[in-house]
Amino acid sequence: KELPSDSNLENTRRQVFNAAHSYVIPKVPSNPKLVHASEEMASNLGIGVEELKSKEFLEVFSGAKVYPKTKPYAMAYAGHQFGNWAGQLGDGRAINLFEIVNNETRWALQLKGAGETPYSRQGDGLAVLRSSIREYLCSEAMHHLGVPTTRALSLMSSGDDVLRDMLYDGNAEYERGAIVCRVAPTFIRFGNFELFASRQDTKNLKILADYTIKYFYPELGKPSKETYIKFFGEVADRTLDMIIHWQRVGFVHGVMNTDNMSILGLTIDYGPYGWLEGFDFGWTPNTTDSQNNRYRFGNQPNIALWNLLQLANALYPLVEEASPFEEILNQYKTNFESRSLDMMRSKLGLQKKEDNDLKLINNLEDCLLSSETDMTIFFRLLSDYKKGKVENALGTIEKAFYKPEQIKGDILKQWKGWFKAYDQRLQMEEVDDDGRKEKMNLVNPKYVLRNYMAQLAIDKANNGDYSLIDDLFQLLKQPYAEQPKNKKWFTKRPDWARHKVGCSM
Ligand code: AMP
Ligand code: MG
Ligand code: MG
Repeated sequence: KELPSDSNLENTRRQVFNAAHSYVIPKVPSNPKLVHASEEMASNLGIGVEELKSKEFLEVFSGAKVYPKTKPYAMAYAGHQFGNWAGQLGDGRAINLFEIVNNETRWALQLKGAGETPYSRQGDGLAVLRSSIREYLCSEAMHHLGVPTTRALSLMSSGDDVLRDMLYDGNAEYERGAIVCRVAPTFIRFGNFELFASRQDTKNLKILADYTIKYFYPELGKPSKETYIKFFGEVADRTLDMIIHWQRVGFVHGVMNTDNMSILGLTIDYGPYGWLEGFDFGWTPNTTDSQNNRYRFGNQPNIALWNLLQLANALYPLVEEASPFEEILNQYKTNFESRSLDMMRSKLGLQKKEDNDLKLINNLEDCLLSSETDMTIFFRLLSDYKKGKVENALGTIEKAFYKPEQIKGDILKQWKGWFKAYDQRLQMEEVDDDGRKEKMNLVNPKYVLRNYMAQLAIDKANNGDYSLIDDLFQLLKQPYAEQPKNKKWFTKRPDWARHKVGCSM
């Protein structure tokens, strides 16, 4: 329903019934400034580089002005958070501005941190510079790593102070406010489907499914039971693809709630995410999840499956038959086994498939776990290994060890045994050392956004110096390139950063 133009109701927090979204008006920031913009993303959208510095760009993407003839809105969705049904949620601090169709590609643009919406609950709808830098840099870095993800167009400071509880010491502090404009073909989540299913609103559930298929899965054809099943199969497939990429690069999302699962299989909602430094299946960057580590690195594939089961339950009323969904969920498990194995083979430079590869990989994982070993550095250096040179093997990768003094006795024996097996396995490959290295360096990044790197950029930015944001932004555009000038970033986490965690809000 249209609201009177002088109404202040739009942004009021409330339970919203029988609706998929609510119109809202972004908060006018007191002193918006452009911190950074992505020229590449702008060009995807048909926005010229010179426009990025314009007053209009500043106003529209900081929330100061609503673009003419558009009606910003916040979406309603629901979800399972940490394994429990959480009921109605929604865009509590995201506001959808408009869509742009450029070069036949549809992009939805949304502001994160532009003030309260009906779904803000206890939150203020704002975002701080710290978390905004983390989202801005990481989402673009993920894209350049080849991981399906939402993108970012711009990062603005708002000029407003935002009060935040620091989770680790219980004190509240004022921080600089910021707004990120993030971009994706759509921000529809599993939770949007769960909302209608929970309301037993099959009519709108069907409208949402039909809309999603028409615009984002048009190849699946006209709405029908078969199409909804195929749709679910596609979502499962894309979700699995995303997860395999996360495991490949050592990304840990940290909050894999169903409201943070994109219906397009994109990485969405960069909060307390982190990157593996020491290889560790049990690691999570999310301090609020430390009780049972639900969202730990090694559990991400299982959680994605659990989330897909929730989506299947939500879509069930459109099909009214459980077995096609169950088949797809079972298929996910087998596909995971084979794709995960192929992914690990590629990280090791193995192109052929041999029966014992799984054992070789499991044994490597045991080695990596035996003493803290940097995942990114290990796999990147492994490409320097020369066939037949088992005796030099450890020297090739020793820079990956956090505690080299521990590599002795049984641990040393274990590593030597592994390299011997790896070498034998490499003898079965046709490719030579250089060819293998080239291939491995396309899947094992040299540069990822380690938590301490983001933190350095944040500390500088909080002192008004944005230079490191741009340095890292440029660095992470080519994560697989050698970039000798940037080799200072090809290094283990420094000791001071050891217990630093990413913070979600
Ligand atoms: P997340 O764990 O980031 O996915 O957030 C869960 C829910 O809380 C989402 O519906 C968000 O929109 C909402 N939320 C998170 N932070 C804020 C905030 N600062 N203000 C309002 N809502 C928020
Ligand atoms: Mg979220
Ligand atoms: Mg979030």
